[in-house]
Amino acid sequence: MTKKQTRARVIKVYTEYINDPEKQIKEYKKLLKQAQEAADLYYIGFVFHMLAVAYNMLGSKDKMLINSVKSLAVFESTGDFEMIADAYITLGAAYYNQENYQLALSNYDKAYTIIKKHRMGGTSRLAVLNNLGAVYNLMGDYRSGIRCLSECLELSKKESPDESPELLVYYTNLAESCMHLGEYKKAETILKDAQALAEKVTVISYICDYRLKYAAANYNLGDIRQGNKNFDTAMKLAEGAPDTYSDIEIFRDLTRLLLKNGDRKRADKAVELLSEYGKNNSHTMVQLTVTGTLADYYRAVGDTERAVEYYERLAKLYEARTRELKQVQLNIHKSLKDADASITRLRRQILESEERADKDHMTGLLNHAAMLRIGGEFIEAASKKKAKIGAVFIDIDCFKKCNDTYGHAKGDEIIKAVAKACLAQETDSVRFARYGGDEFLGLTCGLDDSAVADIARRICRTIRRAAIPNEGSPNGGIVTLSVGIVNVPVTHGTDSIIQIANYADKAVYYSKKAGKNCIHLLDHDRSDADGENDQFVRIEF
Ligand code: GH3
Ligand code: MG
Repeated sequence: MTKKQTRARVIKVYTEYINDPEKQIKEYKKLLKQAQEAADLYYIGFVFHMLAVAYNMLGSKDKMLINSVKSLAVFESTGDFEMIADAYITLGAAYYNQENYQLALSNYDKAYTIIKKHRMGGTSRLAVLNNLGAVYNLMGDYRSGIRCLSECLELSKKESPDESPELLVYYTNLAESCMHLGEYKKAETILKDAQALAEKVTVISYICDYRLKYAAANYNLGDIRQGNKNFDTAMKLAEGAPDTYSDIEIFRDLTRLLLKNGDRKRADKAVELLSEYGKNNSHTMVQLTVTGTLADYYRAVGDTERAVEYYERLAKLYEARTRELKQVQLNIHKSLKDADASITRLRRQILESEERADKDHMTGLLNHAAMLRIGGEFIEAASKKKAKIGAVFIDIDCFKKCNDTYGHAKGDEIIKAVAKACLAQETDSVRFARYGGDEFLGLTCGLDDSAVADIARRICRTIRRAAIPNEGSPNGGIVTLSVGIVNVPVTHGTDSIIQIANYADKAVYYSKKAGKNCIHLLDHDRSDADGENDQFVRIEF
């Protein structure tokens, strides 16, 4: 399957059961089995990725983390930088959920480094910038938060001229960071800019969050009338349903500001909503916000008895939170250990199924074991028909330089390009294998010398025409190949594929010495049996 087909197959499960993550997980597990049997790393990595997303929907933080780690490990061995970047984003989100913001930050940062290096745009870049901004803000580094969120906003404006609803979230988040730094005027300007967009967006939680933050900016700047307007709009939209608010923290600021304005009615409303939210959400962080706000509220309105009661509760909640944070570290540790064990298992499975599938997973060429088997079959067939066995040995020139100059991922692409050129030459009597890192071996059965030479010529021409840059190459700054070929009848000295490959390898060595970017045939008939006086013929292409 191509990557596109793989994605389509996996995403289909997602869209089909979009509101049923448990069913998604069940289906993904079936796909995982298929993917493992086919030893298709991209497929496996993608399913792990989607499993992480589904577990996130279910709120299973540990399973999300385990699957994110697995997905990253698998994608790393494919070298697919786009997926690696996405996997880092998901892993960052998994740590974020585990409330380990330091690790969330470092994973988002790794994603961002890859995205910048490869000049990737689109949703991955937006996601990572928005997430980075959120984590920086949480960690109190508002300046970095603003830097990321501003970039996110600019990029989003450029990428979606028809204005996606997320754009409103980016505006709101950026304004929030400014408010943390006391830059209310700037926050208000940003929010004002989003006014037209806010009228169009239909996602209620986005609008509410926007309105509430706008109100906070207004109040801080003393514009009570505008603040009240924004506050009331948000309240009306949510119709008293506290779950509509994506960020309840803002109620804490708003309650304080409203009381300062002497607006008891609105302050009561805010507190009421928050208490309601607290009743339905037992998460310690939520309880801390709700209880802290209520304690401040009662103190401000002069109800000392209640205030004391809530401050006592708050102290207990802080203790619970400290215990939780310790547990979080243990959980992460355990999840990572589990993921580690299953990655080891997965690697073994892949290796086994790869052997079964006869394929080198990166190039789709035969793997070493399959090459030996098919070579054996060729030799048997050739000796019966008194035909010749040929070998085309290819080694990419100055390949280390490619990796050093353009990175390993680009190096992989070059390997795949050469493999593709080899695959195009395959017939029933011509098969290609990945022999080693940048080495390829073609085996032919029953072809004459000129037909074998033509195969080598066509591959070299294809790669020359592709003109893949390799600035370290002395042959015109492009990727070139050194090729060695032999074509021999099966005799005592040529009755194993390894022996034949060794003859072709000698010819490769000769091509390298002759300046690379050339093809040589080892003329077996004219060479001495002991290999002392090998004769090589240059094949022009
Ligand atoms: P020469 O012209 O003499 O062949 O020089 P070279 O630089 O190509 O040297 P050599 O063939 O010894 O180096 C092969 C390099 O290929 C070494 C290794 O780091 C790299 N390599 C091996 N497997 C892979 C792979 O799967 N992907 C990438 N990107 N690089 C690989
Ligand atoms: Mg090489």
